[in-house]
Amino acid sequence: MRSIKLNQTLTCPNCAEPFDAEQWTFVNVTPNPELKDAALGGELNLFCCPHCSTFFHGENDFVYLDEQASLLIFVFSDKNQQDKKELLAKMQHDYEQLRDTVFKQLNLDFGPMCVFGLEELKEVVEKEQQRTDESEAIAAAAAALGLKVARLKPEWARERGFPLYTAAGTDETAASYAGSARKVLKSGLKSPLLKHFAEKMEGDGAKAPEVL
Ligand SMILES: [Zn+2]
Repeated sequence: MRSIKLNQTLTCPNCAEPFDAEQWTFVNVTPNPELKDAALGGELNLFCCPHCSTFFHGENDFVYLDEQASLLIFVFSDKNQQDKKELLAKMQHDYEQLRDTVFKQLNLDFGPMCVFGLEELKEVVEKEQQRTDESEAIAAAAAALGLKVARLKPEWARERGFPLYTAAGTDETAASYAGSARKVLKSGLKSPLLKHFAEKMEGDGAKAPEVL
């Protein structure tokens, strides 16, 4: 599904003159990877007033979807923090509609999160980018050791501070996954995410990881 932008009337916060501009309301970074770069660069829904040349961010709510990272983020204006409770209810309502339409078509099954303002969105996307980069280094190190690479369920991994990839265990148990993770760490890879994963998998009563 393509990203969507709508033509809207904005009011400049500096000179108060209205003007029309296209604002993103649905951002899907799979067909539009340039929008992820725009989010990281703070250029998403950034406008320049044609009257006084002031730059400012649009305050419309929008949805940011990254299928690969299992990220569905409702971005609300940071001016509306005080309405958090109502906005969370709105998010849940909108999410249920997405789940029954777009998500069904794309075969996606992860839940939503919300942020206030583009700065907060940038932080979340940046953090996920770091997790992706570190996870790819783990996958490469595992493959170099001749180990099979397993992909952890992204939402499950994010909630626990785990990497997206790890070396697969020799069986499905947590202990076996811990053993494989230790092998990768012993090869000299510096990865706080994998170290944390290994420690948790070694813990008493640790459950087997959720893999894709
Ligand atoms: Zn202006």
